[in-house]
Amino acid sequence: MTARILDGTKIRDEIFAELKQDVVQLVAQGVRPGLAAVLVGDNPASQLYVKSKIAACEQLGLASWMHTPPANVSTEWMLQLVSELNNDDNVDGILIQLPLPAQVDSKRVLAAVSPAKDVDGFHPVNMGMLVSNRPGLVACTPAGCMEILRRNKIAIEGANAVVLGRSDIVGKPAALLLLHANATVTVCHSKSRDLPEIIGRADILVAAIGRAGFVQADWIKTGAAVIDVGTNKVTDPAEAKRLLMNFPARQERFAAKGNVLVGDVHPDAVHTAGALTPVPGGVGPMTITMLMSNTVKAAKLRRGIGSIMESNPLPAATAR
Ligand code: NAP
Repeated sequence: MTARILDGTKIRDEIFAELKQDVVQLVAQGVRPGLAAVLVGDNPASQLYVKSKIAACEQLGLASWMHTPPANVSTEWMLQLVSELNNDDNVDGILIQLPLPAQVDSKRVLAAVSPAKDVDGFHPVNMGMLVSNRPGLVACTPAGCMEILRRNKIAIEGANAVVLGRSDIVGKPAALLLLHANATVTVCHSKSRDLPEIIGRADILVAAIGRAGFVQADWIKTGAAVIDVGTNKVTDPAEAKRLLMNFPARQERFAAKGNVLVGDVHPDAVHTAGALTPVPGGVGPMTITMLMSNTVKAAKLRRGIGSIMESNPLPAATAR
């Protein structure tokens, strides 16, 4: 058996096409959704992430702004910037690229972002909206996992879903989204016992722990849908060999490049799962996609455009 590959790049292209149409309609109504990105310091990985987010905005016709405070910025300075962005009506989404430098109180800064502009979906208000299954802005990576399942017509209702990992940004929201979609959800973490047995009962597995190839192929129920969120850069040749034993072409690429990206699920799972997100090219492209989707959604919700807002508005932007 070879799993159906759940191609995140293809879904990103579908959603981008839909968003482009949405943006054209909004612009015709005098609204250009806009994202303000805040990038502190000069962390190369963060710079790359923010650059690709701004490029995605440009591709979709969204307005974007980049704020680049120096690495020695204070919490107070960040709070002032967030307050200005909260009060700027052109800004629909505020993205604070993490991690922030150690001297900055990240939790305070994130909590200061208006929930209506919290396109990362990290604000406690949006987390609360998700818990109570009310419309709000949902964290991008788990929202992307759900899009992958839905657009590939994987049955969620009544399915046994196992979420491996319980972080606030992936595991917990993924579990809540699956629960609201009527799956029977089990959440596992580093203290869970007998993971192979629990995972073996999953019709849907979402793996988000940050351990390369941790979930063994023979733990997976034959035919299960596997959403592999893990993005682990493997540089050790022995580990790469162990993980890519059955993938000579990927081994060759490792030899040429000196590293390879591997998910939390062992690549051999392609022979036990029924459907599987590849790493890279599965969940990865969905995170920026859902950030764009959240920015457009925030622009609509803040202005009462669309039916959701009429029944259940998000809290308005507040000055702090
Ligand atoms: P995180 O905050 O480090 O959380 C990891 C979770 O995994 C924790 O709940 C931890 O349990 C659990 N865990 C760790 N080791 C475990 C083990 N051996 N057995 C069972 N559970 C274990 O990580 P995260 O931010 O959620 O990210 C998880 C992975 O997804 C990482 O590889 C990250 O790079 C990737 N990611 C990818 C994207 C994307 O766009 N594709 C986006 C976000 C994250 P405890 O709670 O008990 O410590």
